[in-house]
Amino acid sequence: MARSDTRVNGQLTTRASSRLLDGIVTFCRDFEIEVTDARPRKIDICTDIGSIGFACGRQGLTIQIRAESAANAYMLQESVAAQVEAAERGCAAALRWNRAPAAGEMPPNFRVGRVLSVTETDGLFWRLTLEAPDLAPFARDGLHLRLALPPRDRAPVWPVVGQDGRPVWPDGPDALHVAVYTIRQVDPDSGRMVVDAYRHGKGATCAWLAEARPGDALGLMGPGGGWMPSAGHLVLAGDETALPAITRILEAAPAGTCGTVIVETARTPPPLSLPDGVTLRFVARDRGECLEAEFARTGLGPAGDRHVWFAAEKARAAHIRTLLRRDYGVDRRESYVAGYWAADS
Ligand SMILES: Cc1cc2nc3c(=O)[nH]c(=O)nc-3n(C[C@H](O)[C@H](O)[C@H](O)COP(=O)(O)OP(=O)(O)OC[C@H]3O[C@@H](n4cnc5c(N)ncnc54)[C@H](O)[C@@H]3O)c2cc1C
Repeated sequence: MARSDTRVNGQLTTRASSRLLDGIVTFCRDFEIEVTDARPRKIDICTDIGSIGFACGRQGLTIQIRAESAANAYMLQESVAAQVEAAERGCAAALRWNRAPAAGEMPPNFRVGRVLSVTETDGLFWRLTLEAPDLAPFARDGLHLRLALPPRDRAPVWPVVGQDGRPVWPDGPDALHVAVYTIRQVDPDSGRMVVDAYRHGKGATCAWLAEARPGDALGLMGPGGGWMPSAGHLVLAGDETALPAITRILEAAPAGTCGTVIVETARTPPPLSLPDGVTLRFVARDRGECLEAEFARTGLGPAGDRHVWFAAEKARAAHIRTLLRRDYGVDRRESYVAGYWAADS
C-alpha cells in the first residue's frame, strides 16, 4: 500500500461529547498516549501511526485523522470507534466518516498470507515463515502484527468491512484466533516474513503452528505498536515473548550503542549478538531468579540519551512502569513498557 498523507474527517452526533472527550483523555493518560493539545473542548492526540484531533461542537464530536497511509488512518478510525463504543455502548454506529473502505471488502490493514514453513528454534520457539502480498508497511510502520488463525477443520472466513465502516469478524465456528506477535524479519521484495512464537504450552497459536503445513492460509493485521528505540544507552529487558523484539532491536542498534540486556527464560536462551558496549544478563526463572531484581540493579544510563524497554507478563510490566515513573523519573519518551501477555487470574 502506497504511503500518502491521508486525512479523514469524522462526525459523531451526540449530546455526550464532553463526557466522551473526558473519557478519551483518561484513556490516553492510562495508556501513556501523548496528548499534544488539551483544551476544554478540544484535544489532539499523537500516536505512532498518526494524529487524531477531537473537538466538541454544537452537533457533537468532530474528529480529524491524519496518517501516512489509508491503512494507518483506518486503524485510527477503528481505535476511535472502539473508544466511543467503550464510553457509550451502541454509540459507534452513529460515527460518520468522509472516507471509509467499501462495505464487503477486507479491511485495508488485513491481508491473507500463506505458511511457507514452521520449524522449532532454540527449543523455545516455533519459527513461522510466511508469504503475503504488500509487506512494505510491515517493514516500515510498526514492529508488531496480529496473526488471525482460522479453525483447522473449516474453510477460512476473513473479516470484511461492514455497512458502518467497521470490520465484521467471523464468529461461532468460523471465529479466528487472534494473537499479537513481533515481526522478527520481513522482506517486502520477496514477500516473506518471519515470526517467532514462544512455546508456552497453553495457547491456541502454538497448537495451530504445531499442525501447520506449507500453503495453509492465515490472516495478518497491522502493523502497529511503534518502532525500535534509538538512543546511545539501551536497557532492554523481558521474558521469552520479548526476545524476538529484543533481538531485532539489537540487530538494528548502531555500533557504539551501550547498555544492558536482561532476559528471563525458563530454559537457556538462544545466543544473542550484542553490540560491543552492551552486556547480557540471563535470569534463570527455574533457579528462582527474577527479572525485576536484576532490573533494579541495572544502571539506566544518562537522561536524554537512554531508552528503557521492558516487555513481559502484564502485572510485571505494570510494576516496572510504576517504578520507572515514580522512583526513577523515566517518562514515556525515554521508555517503552508493555504487558505482552496476561497470566490467568
Ligand atoms: C506487542 C506484542 C508483541 C508480542 N510479540 C511476541 C512474539 O514475538 N513472540 C511471542 O511468543 N509472543 C509475543 N507476544 C505475546 C503473545 O501475544 C502472547 O503470549 C499471547 O498470549 C499468545 O497467544 P496464544 O494464542 O499463545 O495464547 P492465548 O490464547 O492468548 O492464551 C492462552 C493461555 O496461554 C497463557 N499464556 C500466554 N502467553 C504466555 C506466556 N508467554 N507464558 C505462559 N503462559 C502464557 C495465557 O495466560 C492463557 O492461559 C507479544 C505480545 C504483544 C502485546
